[in-house]
Amino acid sequence: MDNRLAYLDYNATTPVKPDVLARVAEALVIGGNPSSVHQAGRLARAVVDQARDAVADLVGASPEQVLFTSGATEANTLAIRSLAAGAARAQRVCAATRILISAVEHDSVVGAAYAADLPVEEIPVTAAGVVDLAALERMLGAGGPAVVVLMLANNETGVIQPVAAAAALVHSFGGWLHCDAVQGPGRVAVDFEALAVDTLTLSSHKMGGPQGVGALVVRHLALVSPQFVGGGQERGLRAGTENVAGIAGFGVAAHLSANDVARSNEINELRRDLEVELQKIAPDVRIFGTSAERLPNTSCFAVAGVAAETQVIALDLADVAVSAGAACSSGKVRTSRALRAMGVPEDTASCAIRVSLGWNTRRADIERFLGAWSELMDRRRRREPKAA
Ligand code: PMP
Repeated sequence: MDNRLAYLDYNATTPVKPDVLARVAEALVIGGNPSSVHQAGRLARAVVDQARDAVADLVGASPEQVLFTSGATEANTLAIRSLAAGAARAQRVCAATRILISAVEHDSVVGAAYAADLPVEEIPVTAAGVVDLAALERMLGAGGPAVVVLMLANNETGVIQPVAAAAALVHSFGGWLHCDAVQGPGRVAVDFEALAVDTLTLSSHKMGGPQGVGALVVRHLALVSPQFVGGGQERGLRAGTENVAGIAGFGVAAHLSANDVARSNEINELRRDLEVELQKIAPDVRIFGTSAERLPNTSCFAVAGVAAETQVIALDLADVAVSAGAACSSGKVRTSRALRAMGVPEDTASCAIRVSLGWNTRRADIERFLGAWSELMDRRRRREPKAA
C-alpha cells in the first residue's frame, strides 16, 4: 500500500504483512497441485497442511475442523446453506425449519440467508448495537429448530456480540449457531471452544493475509453439505484445486495475528485519543456503540449535516483512507443496516464514517486524519449561517 496514505480502513481490508508476502511468493515458486502424488504435489500439500495447522491454532480448533474457502462470503454461504439444508445429515432429531439472523449481520450473511429455502427472521439489537438475547429467546421458543447467525464483532461499529451466551441459548432450543468471526482475529482472542458455536467463518485479508482466501471452522464435518462438488478437495466438502499461495499467506497471517492482539492496548489508546479529539473538534459528533464492548480498533461516528460521501472524498484528497458507514463493493455509499437496526435516524446514518486501525497504524496516521477532518469541520462551520 502507498506509504503516503494514512490507511485507516482495516475493517475493509488490511495491508499484507511482509512475512505473508514472502510466504505467498515462496508458495508460488514451490508450485505443485496438492492432489498430485509426486514430489511437487507433496510439497504443495505440506504448504497447505502447515497453514491449516496455523489457522486451527489461531482459534483453538483441530486442523481437521478447518475447511479452506475463497473467503468469508463463501464460508458464510457454505455454513448457512449446510445448516439449513443438511442439518438432518448430522443425525440430529430434526432439521432446521427457519433461519434467524441478527439485524446487524454482513451482507454476505443476509444474502445467503434470504437465498436459502427457509423463512428468515431478524433478531433485533439494542441501541448500543448488541443483539437482544431476550428477544432471541422469545423467537427460539416461538417455532421449530432454527439456524441462528450471529457475528463476533460488527464490521461497522466494532460492537462485540455475546456469542457464547447466544450459542448456549440456541443449543438449549435444539438449534445451530453460525458465527461470522471475520473481524475478530488480530483484535481480540477468538476461541472456537469457548464460543461453542457450530460453525465459524474467518477471512485472511482482515488479518494481514491475502484477499480471496478464508476458512469455515466446523464442529463436525457431518454438518457440511458441499456447495461445490467434483474434486475431492477439503475432504470432499469443497471441491476445486486449493489456492495454495493464498492459503500459505493466510497461515502466516493467522500465526502473526496473535502479536496484534498483544498490541491491542496500544491500538485502544490510539482509538481513545482519536475519539477525545473528535469531540473537541465537533462537540456534536455522535460516536456509535460506545456503551457496548467494542473491538479496540474501530470507531464509527457521524456529524449531522456532513454527508459521509463528502467526508470520504475530502479525506481521500488529503491522503487519508476511511470508509463511509458500510463500505460497498460497488463503491457506492448506502446507509448502513447496522446503524438503522440501532435506531439511528437515516439523516444521521448517512453522515457516518468508520475509522479502523490495525497492525501498521501509527500515531502519525491518526494525526493526519484529525488534521484533515478538523479542516473539513472548519469549512462546515464557515458555511453555517451565524445566529442573529
Ligand atoms: N463478514 C464480515 C463481518 C466482513 O466484514 C466481511 C468483509 N467486509 C465479510 C464477511 C466478507 O469477507 P470476504 O471479503 O472474505 O468475502
